[in-house]
Amino acid sequence: MGHEHGAGAEDCYVCRRPAGFNRAVVDPREEVEVGRICVNCERDELDDRFDPASSTDGTCAYCRREGTYALPRYEPVAVETDEIVVSMVSTSLDATPIRLCEHHLSELGAGAEEAADVAVGEATLAG
Ligand SMILES: [Zn+2]
Ligand SMILES: [Zn+2]
Repeated sequence: MGHEHGAGAEDCYVCRRPAGFNRAVVDPREEVEVGRICVNCERDELDDRFDPASSTDGTCAYCRREGTYALPRYEPVAVETDEIVVSMVSTSLDATPIRLCEHHLSELGAGAEEAADVAVGEATLAG
């Protein structure tokens, strides 16, 4: 349907709504952000399904296969230039973020599509 806005990297991977700066979905091999996960979806889809602390060895947090994608948190960073301090956010792959395999990442996106349909009904697409 004609009007996609770019790669959609700023929308939540799960619910397709603006994700803000909460958690990114990153392909560590390419060091490219492939999506984001918003606060609500992190709480609904991630928090009660596994313990983030258990996924520190590079394997998928659900199935223990290769963790192809990393889900690092955004961290606020203050960047000082000459006279102003610019607030930025950055993701760090050094902090052993949650990892998911391709299968479980796509399942995360597909699993919430019904919920997204409901949400679209509520949202106005003012642009
Ligand atoms: Zn979401
Ligand atoms: Zn998996």
